[in-house]
Amino acid sequence: MAKTKEKQPTIETGNISVHTENIFPIIKKSLYSDHEIFLRELVSNAVDATQKISYLSRTGQFGGELGDLKIVVSVSKDAKTITIRDRGLGMTGEEIKKYINQVAFSGAEEFVEKFKDVKDAKEIIGQFGLGFYSAFMVSSTVEINTLSYQEGAEGARWTCDGSTSFTLESTDRSDRGTEITLHVAEDSLEFLESARLKTILNKYCKFLPVEIEFEGEIINTTDPIWRKTPTNLEDKDYLEFFKKLYPFAPDPLFWIHLNVDYPFELTGILYFPKVQNELEALKKDRIQLYSRQVFITDSVENIVPEYLMLLQGVIDSPDIPLNVSRSYLQTDSNVRKISNYITKKVGDKLKELFRDDRNKFIEKWGDVDTFVKYGMLSDEKFAEQALEFCLVKNTEGKYFTLAEYRDAIKDLQTDKDGKLVILYASELESQNTYIASAKKKGYDVLHLNGVLDSHFIGKMEQDQSNETWKRVDSESIDKLVAKEEEQVDILSEEQSKAVKEVFDQLALERRMMVQAAPLGEDELPIVITRPEFMRRMREMSVTSGNPNANFPEMLNLVINTSHPLIVKVAERKTPDAKEKLARQLLDLGLLSQNLLTGPSLTEFIERSMSIIR
Ligand code: ADP
Ligand code: MG
Repeated sequence: MAKTKEKQPTIETGNISVHTENIFPIIKKSLYSDHEIFLRELVSNAVDATQKISYLSRTGQFGGELGDLKIVVSVSKDAKTITIRDRGLGMTGEEIKKYINQVAFSGAEEFVEKFKDVKDAKEIIGQFGLGFYSAFMVSSTVEINTLSYQEGAEGARWTCDGSTSFTLESTDRSDRGTEITLHVAEDSLEFLESARLKTILNKYCKFLPVEIEFEGEIINTTDPIWRKTPTNLEDKDYLEFFKKLYPFAPDPLFWIHLNVDYPFELTGILYFPKVQNELEALKKDRIQLYSRQVFITDSVENIVPEYLMLLQGVIDSPDIPLNVSRSYLQTDSNVRKISNYITKKVGDKLKELFRDDRNKFIEKWGDVDTFVKYGMLSDEKFAEQALEFCLVKNTEGKYFTLAEYRDAIKDLQTDKDGKLVILYASELESQNTYIASAKKKGYDVLHLNGVLDSHFIGKMEQDQSNETWKRVDSESIDKLVAKEEEQVDILSEEQSKAVKEVFDQLALERRMMVQAAPLGEDELPIVITRPEFMRRMREMSVTSGNPNANFPEMLNLVINTSHPLIVKVAERKTPDAKEKLARQLLDLGLLSQNLLTGPSLTEFIERSMSIIR
């Protein structure tokens, strides 16, 4: 073909072979909230073209000067244009026809086809791969000026107004590379604000591998640390990077550098944040997903297991399909492999930290406790791994692994049926009396106060059929760890009947259940307990966010039938005298549990005064 030296008007017009006539308005409307991704798409294309020319040069397929390869993004408010210029491999007119007219537009067509079947637009909005066509989301006309690196190539200029027709002409462009000019549409003028463009570049392009200049400044880091070899990095590099990502967060506890290239490609760094409060820990959107250094999204649901979303940092993988619906992701085999890989890495890291320095691990336990339990509850494989490092703390502040703990308590805390009974308290202050009773018996008591602990305990009991966990106030001490030898009941049959009658009446007032058991003289005459099962159901319905499950608070009134003061109740002559003493004993029981308040407390004080007088 003869080279056209003087500028020729249109040498070709044509129709893009799309079947859907009006793709443009459909795409524009459906992607309203995501219009900003046009810049990510165009800059990534410029990066691709730049990497291709570098590759051709390295492999001797391009012998010319590479020159300065940086990509320049610029904006002109007056001309209402945004320009993305690269010095990549460029395109010939034929290539524009092939790659833009056919490929890019067929991608858009496919998009529209898919869009028709999707009920929830959100499912595909923001997906990757809309590519070059996304330029039309913000432009009335798009112009490509390009010169291919190929010897003897001629400059080409293509314009299209988003309809299915285009013009293509040759030019005398002498600079290798491509310049995309967007004539910004009237409804998208916001994108002419340089602050807005800068924000978008910062979000999507901050770690792209080729320098990108905007308003005289390079806006990106071309070699982010997650792409580097872990052995070349020091702690301070990881901490620095963390600060860059989350400038206001306290230093992370530790991190994991992900680095695999087979059977899938994955790099990244996951940080364990220092959790300031437990609910905050359950916040999502803290991991950023990249594909070859291009930011894709910070909502990684279905890619990373739910409980790992407590982590922060970056994962970068070209093997995660981004142009499919979110629910499909879970079944994608690469996604599953990646997710399993991350889980295993996290487990390995925790194991390593625990083995290397138990004391240091214990110091950090408070911050990873919820995370580990959440993981154990949601992932069986992780639960198996975690058995090695999941810790429990007793009321004296001593830490044990579960196996160590079971071993330490098994002698005293195995009940008459051979079941191991693990005792715990959730609040040291208010459950102090119960803890003291248990300790008097030589039992050990764990301190469990995390939001997930009732779920966690449930899981432990499920996995260990020969084990039961009981909060110290769930039963009277003799029943907590039921043993063969019983305390003696010192009441006669007649006395029992009399006592029960009085307390039944009092319990009715407070909607309590009455039980009787010889607890020994050391215990209070009346003990108040909260049945484990009901209490746990109630707690779990709260953490599962089920406000409708209305489990009432349930209390038991246990009459200590080996206590002399209970005999005295029976011995009182009149019903009034019996009731007065019974009330006093009940109130003492309630008082020891912080359950005596309001008028009942006033009445108790007055009654006590009169008794003393
Ligand atoms: P993809 O990037 O996924 O291939 P796009 O729609 O973004 O799809 O781009 C279509 C094609 O147009 C690219 O594959 C490439 O061949 C060509 N192209 C787009 N932008 C450029 C550019 N700046 N330089 C060279 N070729 C480009
Ligand atoms: Mg592209």
